[in-house]
Amino acid sequence: METVRSMVARQILALVFAVLCPGPFVQPALAASPTAGQPPTATVFRNVRIFDGKSSQLSAPSNVLVRGNKIERISLTVIPTDGSTNTVLIDGGGRTLMPGLIDAHVHAMAIRPTPTQAIAGDVGYNNIVAGAEATDTLLRGFTTVRDVGGPTFGLKQAIDEGIIAGPRIFPSGALITTTGGHGDFRQLYELPREIGGTLSRVEQIGFSAIADSPDDVRLRVREQLMQGASQIKLAAGGGVSSPHSPIDVSLFTEAEQRAAVEAAENWGTYVTVHAFTPAAIQRAIAAGVRCIEHGVFMDEATAKLMAQKGVWLSAQPIPEELRQSFPVGSVQRAKFDEAWRGIARTYELAKKYKLKTAFGTDVLFSQALAQQLGAMLASLVRWYTPAEALVMATGTNAQLLALSGKRSPYPGKLGVVEEGALADLLLVDGNPIADIKLVADPAKNFVLIMKDGKIYKNTLPR
Ligand SMILES: [Zn+2]
Repeated sequence: METVRSMVARQILALVFAVLCPGPFVQPALAASPTAGQPPTATVFRNVRIFDGKSSQLSAPSNVLVRGNKIERISLTVIPTDGSTNTVLIDGGGRTLMPGLIDAHVHAMAIRPTPTQAIAGDVGYNNIVAGAEATDTLLRGFTTVRDVGGPTFGLKQAIDEGIIAGPRIFPSGALITTTGGHGDFRQLYELPREIGGTLSRVEQIGFSAIADSPDDVRLRVREQLMQGASQIKLAAGGGVSSPHSPIDVSLFTEAEQRAAVEAAENWGTYVTVHAFTPAAIQRAIAAGVRCIEHGVFMDEATAKLMAQKGVWLSAQPIPEELRQSFPVGSVQRAKFDEAWRGIARTYELAKKYKLKTAFGTDVLFSQALAQQLGAMLASLVRWYTPAEALVMATGTNAQLLALSGKRSPYPGKLGVVEEGALADLLLVDGNPIADIKLVADPAKNFVLIMKDGKIYKNTLPR
């Protein structure tokens, strides 16, 4: 019953949104909706204390005017409304107004399905499942995600057009890897690959792309850019969830990675790599890569190098539960256990060398775990103050997104509450700087969720 009810609610939400909030690519049917052609709506928040995504203090009680999709004005004095029906007045009651959360490491097409379903299942079904999960992601307060591998271009388009509700997506498209590398999910019976022959299933559906020379890499990178990738993701070393690559190995050569970096930079954007070991990280940095995902076996020398070069660390406080998604005794479980032990040290090095550090979750194949995104953010207090953790998941993550430059799909400032910034906002029932556990229960504590100036959730009494 509950499931059916929530599905119906979601469909209604999607329909309401599609009618009220047509995106930039307005469909003919939507253009005829009652709101078409009317001036953009405005929202006034009264009596809110602002966490701005940068500082460790809340503001004095303030007032915020959102017009269209931007924050137009922030004031300590009351902002008058013109009383028009297009203006929504929100009495904040002293609650906290903060930027929407950003997750810097997701795989939106691989959160709910099993690995087999994600790879071998029906593509249409998988997209609809990912759409439902994207709506849940937004309703958990994550208004933007950076997708680091998977065929999310269609999902992103449907969200941006207002067909379904979901976060902004910065897509990488296919994870580009080597034969046998992290993300090569082929079976051994599919070898040898015929040069120029048919692509494997994961490549056909755009989850991964396998490349074994600088020319191959350039081609696959450019294919992702052509589809709208805002950054490029390479596998520079072995990974946990893939069947063939040991976690200690390095994958692409420096020349191969440089080919990717050149192609991405020609297109105005950057390359991020999956890498665990000092060898894999250092080679990627030598090739011009700007961001390291995971970095769980990082050592002092590597951390120092990252600091010198200004290379980002995109880290995840992976919870214990994720280990249990890999069967005890499996190769993947053994690899996970080894990687998991490195996480604490990575965060300690990140702090010691003041690395530019982004927050991500990397939830895979678990709808249950996806419900813990806020709890994962709150768990950063093992290493950071609550304010530092919240800044990381808002203002700092937005700086990483800004590396996409003109390839950002969403021109404007994200992750901050300031005049002129995009209006992605959460109204929190309480002060998350004093009690970060509030973000672990978004259903209860995020009483209002706004993305791009539009309200997706409002449980304030009216
Ligand atoms: Zn990942």
